[in-house]
Amino acid sequence: MSKTVGEKRTCRVCEKTFVPSFIFDFYPDGEDPSVGRCERCMMTELFKKPDPVSVTPEHAETVCKSGKGEIACSFLGLGEGGFSCLKKSSFESAIQERRRAGSIGAKGDNCSGPPDFKIS
Ligand SMILES: [Zn+2]
Repeated sequence: MSKTVGEKRTCRVCEKTFVPSFIFDFYPDGEDPSVGRCERCMMTELFKKPDPVSVTPEHAETVCKSGKGEIACSFLGLGEGGFSCLKKSSFESAIQERRRAGSIGAKGDNCSGPPDFKIS
């Protein structure tokens, strides 16, 4: 059986109804070919960034150089839950932007970030 061309599909995430085309496709994700996600929703999920990873106060001090001025890592975050590494999270691009603009005091880039925190 061939795929019906021009058939309307409904994205189960954004509930937008559209006719799949080669520029905007539909991705079935179950047994039922009428159930699935639109291209935009699939890509959004694919590129979703992980949450910041917590780091211990020791790591923050020895690797991230917390509170040490310019050598402190730009990607170190401090929140209610303690220290976290913002590398690879959704905050990373904003930090990269500030590093490029030179508008961030902590200029270090001290390790590879999660998951293995390799010291650079
Ligand atoms: Zn969608």
